[in-house]
Amino acid sequence: MRNLTRCVHQPAVSHEGFAALVPGVHRASTIVFASAQDYRDRKQRGPDGYSYGLNGTPTARVLEAQIAALEGAAHCTLMPSGMSAISLVMLAVLRQGDRVLIPDSVYPPVRKFCATMLAGLGIAHSIYRPDASDLPGLLGADVRLIWMESPGSTTMEVQDLRAIAALARAHGILTGCDNTWATPLLLRPLELGVDIAMQALTKYAGGHSDILMGSVAVNDRDLYLRLKEARTTLGINVSPDDCSLALRGLASMGVRLAHAGRVALELAGHLRSFASVRRVLHPAFTDCDGSAIWAREASGHSATFTVQLEEPSVAVLDAAIEQARFFAIGASWGGAHSLMVPMTVDDIRNWPPVPGATYIRLSIGLEDPRDLRDDLDRVFGYLDAALAKAAAP
Ligand SMILES: *Cc1c(COP(=O)(O)O)cnc(C)c1O
Repeated sequence: MRNLTRCVHQPAVSHEGFAALVPGVHRASTIVFASAQDYRDRKQRGPDGYSYGLNGTPTARVLEAQIAALEGAAHCTLMPSGMSAISLVMLAVLRQGDRVLIPDSVYPPVRKFCATMLAGLGIAHSIYRPDASDLPGLLGADVRLIWMESPGSTTMEVQDLRAIAALARAHGILTGCDNTWATPLLLRPLELGVDIAMQALTKYAGGHSDILMGSVAVNDRDLYLRLKEARTTLGINVSPDDCSLALRGLASMGVRLAHAGRVALELAGHLRSFASVRRVLHPAFTDCDGSAIWAREASGHSATFTVQLEEPSVAVLDAAIEQARFFAIGASWGGAHSLMVPMTVDDIRNWPPVPGATYIRLSIGLEDPRDLRDDLDRVFGYLDAALAKAAAP
C-alpha cells in the first residue's frame, strides 16, 4: 500500500474492551458489502437493516428502539423535524381521493399542509371540533385517517383518544396522535387504541433548544413498512449527531419534565389571581376543555400552557411581554430556557367560539422558580395596571 492509498484506507483497530455507556456517533452514506452477491441481496436486509446511509446508522437504531420502547410500540422511524414526521404519516397513508380529519386545535402548520400540499395531490381534509362532537357526521368511505393532538396547540383542548380511536376502528379508519406535549412519559396513545404515535423530539426529548427531530411509532408492521417506504422514496434521513443529542436529552427527560411540570403548575395557579387573566388553559384546571379526560388517561403534566387574557390591545400585550427579564420571546418549547409568545387564534374556525381572543403561550424551563415568578409578576402586573387604567372613568 502506498501513502496516497494509506490516506484513504484507514487501518482496522481493535474495539475490544471498548464498552462505552453511550452509543457512538456513526456517520455513513456508503455501506460496504462483503461480496457482490451481498450487495445484490441488500433489500433482504429489511427496513431496519443497513444498506445505505439514508436508512440510518446504529446511532439512529438506538434512538428508534428507545422511542419505540417508551411509546409501547414495535417500530419507530425518525424524521428531521416534528412537522416532517406528521407530513410523512399523511403522505404514506393517504392517496388521491382520500380524506383526512384534523382537529381544529391542531398544530397550525398541519392545517396549512392539508390545505396546500395535500389538496394539490387531490387529498381532502375536514376539520373537526376537538371534543369530537361533530366527528361522526364527518365520517365517510373516503376518510382514511383521523389525526389527533392532545392537548391541542395553544388552546389546549384535551381529546378523548380512546373514544375517537374506537370510533375510527369501527369504521376501518387509521388514527394518529401528536404526542409532543405529554411525551410517552405522561401519555401513551398506542395503549388507548391509537395506531400511530408521533412526537416532535425537538421539544422535551431534545430538551435544550438545539435540535429539530420527529418520531413516528407504530405497532403494525405493514404500516411501518409503508412509512419506511415513503421516507426512503422521499429521500429523508436524520443526522447521527442529532440522534446522539436526542439520546442525551432523553436520559434526563424524566427529571426535567417532572421538575418543569411541577413549577409550571404552580405558576399557572399563581396566574389565575391576576385580573387581566380570563382563563388559564392547563389540563390540570377545569377551565381547560377535557381536563377530566386528562385526569383519567394521563399521568401528569408537562410545562407548557396558555393564558387567555382580557383582550388587551396589541401595544399593551407587546409592552407587557417585554417586561420579562428571564422569559425569552420565541417558539419551540420544552427546553431549559423559559419562553413566552403572544398569540391570537384568529384562524380557528369553529373552536373555541372566541373571535379576537388573545393569549400568551408559556413554556417553563429550568431556571429558579422564584425568578420566573418575579418575571410573571412584572408581565401580568403590567397587564393588570393597563386593564385598571382602561376601566377608569
Ligand atoms: C413543535 C411542534 C411540532 C413540530 O415540531 P418541529 O420539530 O418544530 O417541526 C408538532 N406538533 C406540536 C404539538 C408541536 O408543538
